[in-house]
Amino acid sequence: MACASHGSVVRGDSPAAYFQAQVSNSLDYIKLHKGHGARVVGIMCEYTPRELIMAAGGIPVCLCGGSGEMVEPAERVLPSNLCSLIKSTFGYSLEKSNPFLEMADLIVAETTCDGKKKMYELLGQQYPMHVLELPQKPDDPDAFAHWVRELMKLKIALEKRFSIVITDEKLRNAIRLMNRERKLKRGLAELMKCEVPPLTGRDLLDMKSLVACMPKDQLQYENALKTLPTRVQDTSAGQGVRVLLTGVPLPHGAERVMDIIEGHGGVVVCQENCSGIKPVLEDISEDAPDMIHAIAAKYFHLPCSVMTPNTKRMELLLQLSREYQAQCVIELVWRTCITYDVESACVKRLVEDEMNIPYLRIETDYAPSDSARIALRVQSLFETVSARGSSQESSLKGCCHD
Ligand code: SF4
Ligand code: SF4
Repeated sequence: MACASHGSVVRGDSPAAYFQAQVSNSLDYIKLHKGHGARVVGIMCEYTPRELIMAAGGIPVCLCGGSGEMVEPAERVLPSNLCSLIKSTFGYSLEKSNPFLEMADLIVAETTCDGKKKMYELLGQQYPMHVLELPQKPDDPDAFAHWVRELMKLKIALEKRFSIVITDEKLRNAIRLMNRERKLKRGLAELMKCEVPPLTGRDLLDMKSLVACMPKDQLQYENALKTLPTRVQDTSAGQGVRVLLTGVPLPHGAERVMDIIEGHGGVVVCQENCSGIKPVLEDISEDAPDMIHAIAAKYFHLPCSVMTPNTKRMELLLQLSREYQAQCVIELVWRTCITYDVESACVKRLVEDEMNIPYLRIETDYAPSDSARIALRVQSLFETVSARGSSQESSLKGCCHD
């Protein structure tokens, strides 16, 4: 059966259909395991090492808010000029309407952008919290050592809070599980390299859970990797202008811009952001002599705009645009997200001068009021892409005739 919302193919027994119930899948899993003594640990950023939490017997669950309905309650306490993601996450806490947050035995937060950091102070008044201090200048010689010390402090905090000893063996097992999940997710993302991908960007975005490493998820990923490549012949799911989407993450519920892009002739072949491929590109050595050091290295390499300078993101974008044959780049910035907004000037230059393809920056929030305007800008971008394609074709023809 075709899914009317974004034109993809979602059959009743398919992996896509399974992941459409990602919230209830995650909730069932957590309730079952919490009933058997597992600890629930809320996280809100891809810098937070899930492996450490899992080695402490915890279940890491993403608490990032994607609901526009939670913004208004948050604005009763927070200033309105914060990004929707921060406000939505906090709004859930005021409304007590995120069951994962209400079940959390601990929240592990991090010092990324100022808005998040200060929101965590308020959240920490209601829920137990540990804050990781991220180094801001990754190229400084002492930055990595600082990050390793922060992870050691988290290890001690988890051991103390959950009365458990985190052994190397537990860490190794957690690394194995996470490496397996990353590999499966990378495999799915790489299906989008095909000339006609067997799924849409929205399908891919939906193929996740709020909880890491649920066995049923991993079976579904394997199933998708077996069945999807054969589906390319009977679907037009992945046809359209090839878009590389970068910028802020799209948490569950905040997929509007993705739907606009794919509803107007695009297919998002690569999602460079934190809800896409960026966090799953690097694995952790399972044989490393120092497990904490190895975990720290993987997370330290994540190129987020909160770092200065963030040159690795530019290198990654260039690499991904080639691998995925992007015809244009769309950058999504949640309104008032200073770090991604300022960095967008570097991305624009990179895209236009080095990739030599069109670039579009979309600044918006969770309110749907600007959807029509965004759609017009996306259409105009795709017209530019098509016009360039035709002029390249005709100049090539010209060369042949010469
Ligand atoms: S974009 Fe940056 S702050 Fe946001 S989840 Fe990713 S790493 Fe964390
Ligand atoms: S989108 Fe920007 S402002 Fe919002 S939480 Fe992420 S880094 Fe912070």
